Amino acid sequence: MKKILEIRLYGDPVLREKAEKIRKIDEKIKELAESMIETMDYYEGAGLAATQVGEKLSLFVISRKIVGEDKEPLVVINPEILDIWGEIIMEEGCLSIPGIYAEVERPEGVHLKYINLEGEERELKAEGMLARVIFHEFDHLNGMLFWDRLDRETKRILIAQFKKGFIRNKEDKIRV
Ligand SMILES: [Zn+2]
Repeated sequence: MKKILEIRLYGDPVLREKAEKIRKIDEKIKELAESMIETMDYYEGAGLAATQVGEKLSLFVISRKIVGEDKEPLVVINPEILDIWGEIIMEEGCLSIPGIYAEVERPEGVHLKYINLEGEERELKAEGMLARVIFHEFDHLNGMLFWDRLDRETKRILIAQFKKGFIRNKEDKIRV
């Protein structure tokens, strides 16, 4: 049964853990993916990685609002980045660091290989918002948060803001 999961916030050590490959897509994994989609939608996130709900598993989900309202949310298991290109600066937020947003430079495009929930190997080439969310979630599976990609001083300021409970009203921004 799917349910709303607790999202781990900055400071929780599980966010620094490296996710492990999923060997078998059993009912537990399917249930986890369903609950992650439910949780992501509930908190209006663009994406959610398993480590953010305390599971050290190589799995993330991406919302319909990124992949297209006419499509199913994307479930990505055991992702591998085959290629990247370009560079672009975009603003990011994170469900594990609520209220904090920053401009982050990342590659513009990604060629991703992964397994879907049916256990089939898939490849995907993406740019724009989809690529951005993929990079952000991929980082989560390696124990990285978006501010780890910023210079030390900016990161320090953002952490201080987060600790002070500094919340900006930016409902229109992406939270992943
Ligand atoms: Zn995040």
